[in-house]
Amino acid sequence: MNTIPVWDTSSLYQGFSDPRYRADQAALTKISRKILKELKRFPKDRKSQKAVLAHILPWFDKAAALAEQLGSYTYMLYSVNTRDEDALREMNANEELRLPLQDAEVRFRDAWASSGITTAQLLKAYPELEAYRLALEEDRILARHQLSPDQENLAADLARSGADAWSRLHAALSSTLSVVWDPKKNQRKTVTELRQLAYHPDRSIRRRAFDLEKGAWQSAETAFAAALNGVKGHSVTLNRRREWTSPLELSALQARLSSRALVTLIGVMEESLPLFRRYLKAKARYLGLPVLGFHDLFAPVGKDEKAFGWDEAKGTVVKSFEAFSPRLGAFAALAFDKNWIHARPLDGKVGGAYCTSLPLSQEPRVLSNFDGTFGELKTLAHELGHAWHFWLLRDRSHVYHDYPMTLAETASIFAETLVTEATLATANPEAALFILEQSLQDSTQVIVDILCRFRFEKAVFDRRADAELTPRELNDLMVEAQRATYGDGLNPQELHPWMWAVKGHYYHHDLAFYNYPYAFGQLFALALYGRFRAQGPAFVPVYEWILGQTGVQTADDLAASAGFDLGTPEFWQQGIAVIEGQIVEFERRTHGS
Ligand SMILES: [Zn+2]
Repeated sequence: MNTIPVWDTSSLYQGFSDPRYRADQAALTKISRKILKELKRFPKDRKSQKAVLAHILPWFDKAAALAEQLGSYTYMLYSVNTRDEDALREMNANEELRLPLQDAEVRFRDAWASSGITTAQLLKAYPELEAYRLALEEDRILARHQLSPDQENLAADLARSGADAWSRLHAALSSTLSVVWDPKKNQRKTVTELRQLAYHPDRSIRRRAFDLEKGAWQSAETAFAAALNGVKGHSVTLNRRREWTSPLELSALQARLSSRALVTLIGVMEESLPLFRRYLKAKARYLGLPVLGFHDLFAPVGKDEKAFGWDEAKGTVVKSFEAFSPRLGAFAALAFDKNWIHARPLDGKVGGAYCTSLPLSQEPRVLSNFDGTFGELKTLAHELGHAWHFWLLRDRSHVYHDYPMTLAETASIFAETLVTEATLATANPEAALFILEQSLQDSTQVIVDILCRFRFEKAVFDRRADAELTPRELNDLMVEAQRATYGDGLNPQELHPWMWAVKGHYYHHDLAFYNYPYAFGQLFALALYGRFRAQGPAFVPVYEWILGQTGVQTADDLAASAGFDLGTPEFWQQGIAVIEGQIVEFERRTHGS
């Protein structure tokens, strides 16, 4: 059987009218009300305060698990059929059901901070709450930067017609923006379709698409700039009122990363730039160009000759995972056998891929759009890596699952690397060159382009604090960031000044600096992979232990207890060394061309 599968949802709920689904919705409402009620009559004496805090924390966990289970299930149904109106209605309904819980979180922080009880005192009285230590300390910090519950409530309400409205404008404009591609046939292409042509082997087509794409963004730049100024202005105002020294301070707290580690990470990324420029130059030589333009970054190199059948993809994933650890291999085999994967492309199904968790059912699910290419095989491995991370924690309470973005990509990138390396080892020369270069394209995005976005966003926040920015100023900042990062790896005359209009993350007030955690994830996972190569199977238990702790320790502490120091460049350089090995290999294979 080589049919690409769809997932089995029968072990979750039998649709939205399933009494168990309705019961879980009712349970979420009930428990949120119970928490709110307790917080509204928060006692005055310390002993009773501790007792209330102690029984409320597991309630929060239960509520979060219910909310995630309901949210995952409805989004699963919606994402395989975006015309499913019932799923859309249920998604909205579940969002409404979560509102009291958000209110409760604000009130909890307020009560916890004003109680004056220290984390140590609470944990001494209730040692069983140890897993909440980090969350409690973070709540203390967040409480210091929190306005009164009424003001927070107003800010959240206003965001819906303020910052969120600007995000929606960006999304609506950028998904419909189009230009004439073929005047004779009166054929138009959207900017998304034009950007897809960056992967075309014919340079004149890539170039034409690139020029038209830039023109399209330019035609709406006034609206995009207004939206960006609106979103960033919202963040600047609220951050000031909440007394954060910079948006980066809040972002690092959410990433559970010390500023020492962040500075070291950025420093190592900066230092690695010449290495990436070497790769870009080797790619230019291979393509017969004096230097690459922005529109050559995704040009294919080598040949993706191999079309994987589903069974072959399954075999490759299971075997590559098994070579790392029999437990990981057995888990992948279970995910395939139990039909936890929806891989068949369907009309009306969302693009891309994701992994989602159903904590009450203790099962994960993976969605992808499998087309037999190596890229899709790698995506499958990536998502199964996320699923494995969940699987290791499936019977632990929700607090263990609440890991920051920095640590959330460890298992996925690690899994993806296992499959890439295994496929490389057996591929023929042209296919191996293709796989190798794909991997370098990705790393260049995650290190060089991410650093570019980080610099740009930092500059925008700094400038926006004083005044609104014009489209021209945004273009200048973007080009400056691209020059500083890509350097002589790209032609300075062929950069992309409107990238600030392209990336949706800049337009979400709650996703400030949604960039460096990717670089963290990539280098952290590669550094761990480097350790595995050096230590072999002895590293497996250490690796599993690390994944088990991602929700309850800061990135720095977790690394330290596994014997790594995130504040030293040497740690991050282990990840860069894996990429360097691939660049040397790429140079060797393309030498003489
Ligand atoms: Zn991922």
